[in-house]
Amino acid sequence: MLHIYVETYGCQQNEADSERILGLAREMGYEKTDRKEDADLIIVNTCAVREHAELKALSNTGQLKHIKEKNPDLLIGVCGCMIQQEHRKEDIKNKYPYVDFVFGTNMTDRFKEIVSEVKKSKRRGFFVESYDKNPGTITEGITPVRCSKTNAWLSIMYGCNNFCTYCVVPYVRGRERSRKPEFIIEEFDSLVKDGYRDITLLGQNVNSYGKDLDEKTSFADLLKTLASKEGDFVIHFMTSHPKDATKELIDVIAENPKIERHFHLPLQSGSDAILKAMNRRYTRDSFFALTEYMRERIPGISVTTDIIVGFPGETDKDFEDTLDMMRRIRFDGVFSFVYSKRKGTVAAEMEDQVPDDVKKSRMGRLLALQTEIQTEKNSGFVGKTLRAHVEGESKSDPGMLSARSTEGKLIHFKRTPEAEKLIGRFADIRITSAEAIMLFGELINTSNN
Ligand code: SAH
Ligand code: SF4
Repeated sequence: MLHIYVETYGCQQNEADSERILGLAREMGYEKTDRKEDADLIIVNTCAVREHAELKALSNTGQLKHIKEKNPDLLIGVCGCMIQQEHRKEDIKNKYPYVDFVFGTNMTDRFKEIVSEVKKSKRRGFFVESYDKNPGTITEGITPVRCSKTNAWLSIMYGCNNFCTYCVVPYVRGRERSRKPEFIIEEFDSLVKDGYRDITLLGQNVNSYGKDLDEKTSFADLLKTLASKEGDFVIHFMTSHPKDATKELIDVIAENPKIERHFHLPLQSGSDAILKAMNRRYTRDSFFALTEYMRERIPGISVTTDIIVGFPGETDKDFEDTLDMMRRIRFDGVFSFVYSKRKGTVAAEMEDQVPDDVKKSRMGRLLALQTEIQTEKNSGFVGKTLRAHVEGESKSDPGMLSARSTEGKLIHFKRTPEAEKLIGRFADIRITSAEAIMLFGELINTSNN
């Protein structure tokens, strides 16, 4: 019996790709293992969105050297967004001689062929082609090995056309390619049949789903179709670009209770000048109007966002505008990132790069403000009962279970044999206390499933 170990960095899209790789490996006789030491094949699926993610993947790839010394037959492959960049491919080629092969993001579906070729030739292989040469196709019919028994990823499209000036994704993932609705629906049906009750639709910009297909369809249409399916489930989706988020989409959510009461809408900056320099193509006013419409149509909806601190040219006033938007909108959660210069992007060449100490101090202020807002908002849930999907053991306390409400709130509650039976199902939880990043509660009935 052969074993494969896959290490995944970065976003959910990468996790979904790793599950497809595991599926292809299974067809070759490789079973998944959670121990690197037991593996015959190790795949490192990398991220390139920020430098930190690249350095982490490189450093962990470096540590595989020792495992290979003990097991010379081990095959090591590196793939994903970082490898799609020529300079990183060269780094691996020159500085990591124990890596047997690399393959780019438009080669994932050729995984079996690649592994067979490397094994047969006993030579290192570098399978990287730029998206200009190889735009990437979508291979249907691969059965992924799902890593979670309770939550499932479902990719609906690949790539991005937006070229936000800070972002490397369009270069390492190519142009938008949507899967045909019939394949998505088929996969969705099989997930529901297999008992998954928490399904996340994935794409870099789900709101432009379908624009590249011959048949006329949209993300709102797709959501409507999936939400009308029989069964007890909740649909999540990410990520939405504010310039393409329509009122029609918000209306579909309002009318379909099986869609999460949560919208992740990346703001990136609250300053119109910075938004323009980022090529985001919306303004602070249009963004604010969108969140107002959401809250009007879907009372109780939670709105989360991504913010970049220290984009080139960001002045104190620009940063104050971001804090101002955070105070006005009062997001339920903010994923904040210090701007990271990405080779080949427009912003990397901009003058006025913000010094590290300024970025750091702005980040500190942003986090303090958001912690205050979240603590206040979350305390408003105390005494209320939320319906939540029970996901399993809490990552921070094995004595607790963790659940996610349809508003996307993380809830911890006591682990008992009775409560464990609800893993993978829905439960009603009364909130007893709240912190900035999570709620605590108690189970009030087990009649839901
Ligand atoms: N397609 C999605 C997510 C892309 S990457 C979207 O458009 O929202 C996820 C987040 O990483 C982005 O929203 C952004 O906030 C952040 N990000 C992307 N490039 C970055 C960079 N160069 N430096 C810092 N953060 C970055
Ligand atoms: Fe990157 Fe912008 Fe595309 Fe998101 S929409 S992946 S931030 S280029």
